[in-house]
Amino acid sequence: MNALSDLRLGARPSGRTALAARWIVAHQDGGHRLLENGEVVIEKDRVIFTGPRFPGEVARRIDLGEVLISPGFIDLDALSDLDTTTLGVDCGPAWAKGRVWPQGYVERGPYEMYTPEELAFQKRFAFAQLLMNGITSALPIASLFYREWGETVAEFEAAAAAAGELGLRVWLGPAYRSGGMVCTAPGVLEPRFDEARGLRGLEDAVGFIRRTSGSFEGLVQGMLAPDRVETSTQTLLSRTMAAAADLDVPVRLHMAQGQMELDTLRALHGTTAPRWMAGFGALNDRLIAPHAVLADETDLALYADHGVTVAHCPLVFARSGAMLRSFARLRAMGIRIGMGTDTAPPDMVLNMAVGVMMARMAGDRIDEAAPQLMFDAATTGGADALRRSDLGRLEPGAKADIAVFDMSDILMAPRVDPIRTLVLGATGRVTRAVFVDGRLSMRDGQVAGMDMAEARVRVQRQFDGLVDKYPDRTWGHPPVAEIFPGSYPAFSPPSRS
Ligand SMILES: [Zn+2]
Repeated sequence: MNALSDLRLGARPSGRTALAARWIVAHQDGGHRLLENGEVVIEKDRVIFTGPRFPGEVARRIDLGEVLISPGFIDLDALSDLDTTTLGVDCGPAWAKGRVWPQGYVERGPYEMYTPEELAFQKRFAFAQLLMNGITSALPIASLFYREWGETVAEFEAAAAAAGELGLRVWLGPAYRSGGMVCTAPGVLEPRFDEARGLRGLEDAVGFIRRTSGSFEGLVQGMLAPDRVETSTQTLLSRTMAAAADLDVPVRLHMAQGQMELDTLRALHGTTAPRWMAGFGALNDRLIAPHAVLADETDLALYADHGVTVAHCPLVFARSGAMLRSFARLRAMGIRIGMGTDTAPPDMVLNMAVGVMMARMAGDRIDEAAPQLMFDAATTGGADALRRSDLGRLEPGAKADIAVFDMSDILMAPRVDPIRTLVLGATGRVTRAVFVDGRLSMRDGQVAGMDMAEARVRVQRQFDGLVDKYPDRTWGHPPVAEIFPGSYPAFSPPSRS
């Protein structure tokens, strides 16, 4: 009798491995199908069989029992740092809470709030969290607010090594920008540009991609990631698109996502980001654009016409009362939708659950916002955006990127249809195992070469250190307790009388 525990964590099992399960999301005739009491057989980095029972020889057959074997999720906006949006979501406005640099901080000279070691460690930790949530492909995103300027090549070299060692498929490129927003008076936000610095960032990113793309047996691929449309110049974006075509890599750029962006674009260019981009030929099918929650009809029509993919991250927006309007409308317009986590917890299942609920609140019919449609977006939608027909599906020839979800979880009982149960259950904590490129990258919450319990303690210390530095870059430099007041007032010890 073979078990998952017989396999070596972080390694690719030798020979053929048959994984038997009560349910498998198998691909057939261009779509996902539910296969009950079947097998997936993997060999090296590939799936070689899906079906009732593999007739050929296998080195081992592992019966996983009452689980759902699924293609691993593809996260187009994958949380890759210690999330700071959770700090601010209940403590606004952003300009008063260290989310926009105050003039004084800029004049003194912005600085890195984490050391290079801390930056490397938090990416490794975040990558492990993604694996724990059934995510096998990730396009990392991190905030630049606590950075000196953009992301660095050195930290991305460390990130590539972390992905290679842990066994996570990633699209990497240090984020760059030609400007930043500055708070010049309470509530007054202005962009400040340094185009040369942005162009150097692009050049560094191109160099990084040329050196790193394809490393770790292809686990690491390149991506160009200009950070936010409102802090990019036309030259930067034009050159980004030209470089992307040259390198054959995707571009991810946040737009149609926030009021500050809308106001800044209107002031600078007199229009919306999608219209501005279309005007100089920078909208195309390489572009992955989080989050489209503020895209209007014309913006969306431009996305549809130019093959832009929307990275849909419902959780982070639902928390502040915003939503994509709407999932079904975008689909009906022919816009490709992939999913992203973007915030803590980086939980794709939770995002699918919130996605279903928010779409229905936005007016989508029940069948237009069904769990399986979110599931498509989180698997084949992302794969198509990345032009990878070997990802996001389990069929012979596809990559062995697999997530195993526990369907016997007591808190989810009783089960109905496995996809509906998973999405209604709304948590990725039922992820039991993950294979990436045929390697067992995660099993029962453990990843290769990292003690997650120890890592959590270190992460908390590191994050607390960052929070301590918030007054430095918050308007008026109030103490932390004023920037982020507690949910309830602190308990006062009774006075002795
Ligand atoms: Zn985002």
